[in-house]
Amino acid sequence: MGRKFFVGGNWKCNGTTEEVKKIVETLNAGQVPSPDVVEVVVSPPFVFLPVVKSSLRPDFHVAAQNCWVKKGGAYTGEISAEMLVNLDIPWVILGHSERRALLGESNEFVGEKVAYALSKGLKVIACIGETLEQREAGSTMDVVAAQTKAIAARISDWTNVVLAYEPVWAIGTGKVATPAQAQEVHAELRKWLHANVSPEVAASTRIIYGGSVNGANCKELAANPDVDGFLVGGASLKPEFIDIIKSAE
Ligand code: PGA
Repeated sequence: MGRKFFVGGNWKCNGTTEEVKKIVETLNAGQVPSPDVVEVVVSPPFVFLPVVKSSLRPDFHVAAQNCWVKKGGAYTGEISAEMLVNLDIPWVILGHSERRALLGESNEFVGEKVAYALSKGLKVIACIGETLEQREAGSTMDVVAAQTKAIAARISDWTNVVLAYEPVWAIGTGKVATPAQAQEVHAELRKWLHANVSPEVAASTRIIYGGSVNGANCKELAANPDVDGFLVGGASLKPEFIDIIKSAE
C-alpha cells in the first residue's frame, strides 16, 4: 500500500505579516522526519501564499484554502485554479466545513470544484465530515458517503486527492475524536472507496483526520491503521505543529 503520512496545516483566516514570518521561521528550524516519511503542506491565507512559498523550507509545500469552481473571469473576490497553477501553488483545500456551513457550499459544488482543480493539475485536500446532530442521529456514514460520492461522481483519478475526515463537532472545539472514532470512520470510508471506486483507490488514497489535533493527542490518533495523517487548524499556528509532523514516525 505504502500511503505516505500527510500533515496539513490549515492557517484559516489568521496571521499578520509579522506572525507569518515567525511561523515560517519556526517551521524552517524544526527537526522533522524526511520527506520520504511525511509530506507536509501548510495553507496560509491567499495573500500570504507567495511570501510563504518563497521563504518556506523546500521539503514543505503550500496549499491554498479554496479556489473557484471554473475558469476565472467575472467572479469578484474569487481566486481561480489557473492562478494557483500560475503561481506554482501545488495544493488546494476544498470543501472545508467552514465554507460548507458559512458559505453554503453544497456537496455537488464541492465535487465540481475538486474535479476542476484536479483538471488544472492541482492536488486537492478534499474535506468531509458530519455535524454533532448528524452523529447523534446515527447518520455519520451516510453524510460522509454522500460527500465523498459527490466527488467520486466527478473524478476518475484519485492520485492527487487526499481525503480529510473532519467531524464538524471536533473542529476548533478542543473536542477531538477518540482514536477509535477516527479509525472507525476512516475504515468505513476506505470500504466505501473499495466498493464504489476501486480496490486500488481504497488502498492508496490517504485519509487524514482533522479536528482539534494537537501535540498531545496526535501520536495516539496516528497509531491507527487507517489514519494516514492530519489536517491541523489551531495547532498549525504553533510550534507544536512540529510535534504533530513527528507523529509520522
Ligand atoms: P482545528 O481545525 O485543528 O483547529 O480543530 C481543523 C480544521 O478545520 O482543518
